[in-house]
Amino acid sequence: MKMIQDFNFKGLKAIVRVDFNVPLDKTTLKVTDDTRIRGALPTIKKIIRDGGSCILMSHLGRPQGRQEKYSLKPVLPVLEKHLGMKVKFADDCLGEETKKIVADLKPGEVLLLENVRFYPEEEGKPILPDTATEEEKKAAKAELKIKQKEMAKKLSEYADVYVNDAFGTAHRAHATTAVITDFFPEEKKMFGFLINSELEAMDRVLNKPQRPFTAIMGGAKVSDKIMLIENLLNKVDNLIIGGGMTYTFIRAMGGKTGKSLCEEDKLDLALNLLNKAKEKGVNLLLPVDSVNADRFENDAQTSVSAVDDVPEGWMGLDIGEQTINKFRDVIMKSKTILWNGPMGVFEMEKFSKGTVAIAKAIAEATNKGAFSLVGGGDSVAAVNKYNLADKVSYVSTGGGAMLEYMEGKKLPGITAIRGE
Ligand code: AMP
Repeated sequence: MKMIQDFNFKGLKAIVRVDFNVPLDKTTLKVTDDTRIRGALPTIKKIIRDGGSCILMSHLGRPQGRQEKYSLKPVLPVLEKHLGMKVKFADDCLGEETKKIVADLKPGEVLLLENVRFYPEEEGKPILPDTATEEEKKAAKAELKIKQKEMAKKLSEYADVYVNDAFGTAHRAHATTAVITDFFPEEKKMFGFLINSELEAMDRVLNKPQRPFTAIMGGAKVSDKIMLIENLLNKVDNLIIGGGMTYTFIRAMGGKTGKSLCEEDKLDLALNLLNKAKEKGVNLLLPVDSVNADRFENDAQTSVSAVDDVPEGWMGLDIGEQTINKFRDVIMKSKTILWNGPMGVFEMEKFSKGTVAIAKAIAEATNKGAFSLVGGGDSVAAVNKYNLADKVSYVSTGGGAMLEYMEGKKLPGITAIRGE
């Protein structure tokens, strides 16, 4: 596999799949968080510094065909500011005018193509009326698969080299993330720096963790995290469970959870996970106390109880002081830490203490030499909110993609280049 750091782009055109799926202000359409744009800069800069040119392609949002509110145009000024140079923009991906701009692209220049998802063939998902029959759906999908190949081929013809640096969409088998690689030889396709660093961080945790290895799982539902927990039970020394999913485990063990979030249909599964942890010698830690609210509001009345004794009519929305201390002790002794999901409803100040304390403990353990990987939308939002992003070892940019990789799944965008 070619590595970008060893490749010389001089005189070559590179077509680069980036993840510029950034949030936009609804009225001004200005970019409100440019983390993803900044994530792609090392790759773009390397290509132009070598004397190559760069054709950038990305999606933004989930448009149904061409919809101007999903245009990538708002990204342009932000990208120009970060690169300190003019960036060209093409109004579509495959039109005649765009082909001309591509053909005229000079070494050192950068071109951004319009949203690749303006073409339904990018995802291979047909836009059909609700009334479409199963047969019609199947036929439309098959037809779109052919068009997907055509789109990938046309885009591949723009460039000498393909670079994938869009980790956030690496779990999708789309025209620009996977299918396009069929049209480049082995030595002309590679990952960008962002994907490389994501893979390095995840492989370090999954394959060669320094021990003790502690995974901290939180968030709303256990059902979203089953596969991840199952895979991690084969790897970790400690598994800390917090957040809303706590109460499904507690109820499964016969505890009283009041009105707390509980997935009644997942009680067996929760018991099963607890047994598996025991079998595998994993130290599974559940909260011992719970901060409860009488309503799902920041100004709710609160009370603290044992986690298995939440009063009738109350709901557990955060971990309590004793739990924080218990979790903190384990985190501070860990050498590898993976964190996915908040410990409580941290969006509400009143129920954010547990999440803040755990984020701080992870930062402290990192400062003492542990390797910490934070991933999954809400835990990333939490470390950003508390300004701790640069105090942990790695913050993943790919929510769904990271989750799937950590579950042990093969990601189409990764295997298309790495080949296993
Ligand atoms: P997830 O996307 O599964 O990681 O879940 C994140 C969400 O879980 C956040 O919006 C939190 O507010 C929510 N959450 C965390 N703890 C609780 C809890 N005890 N009860 C209800 N929701 C929770």
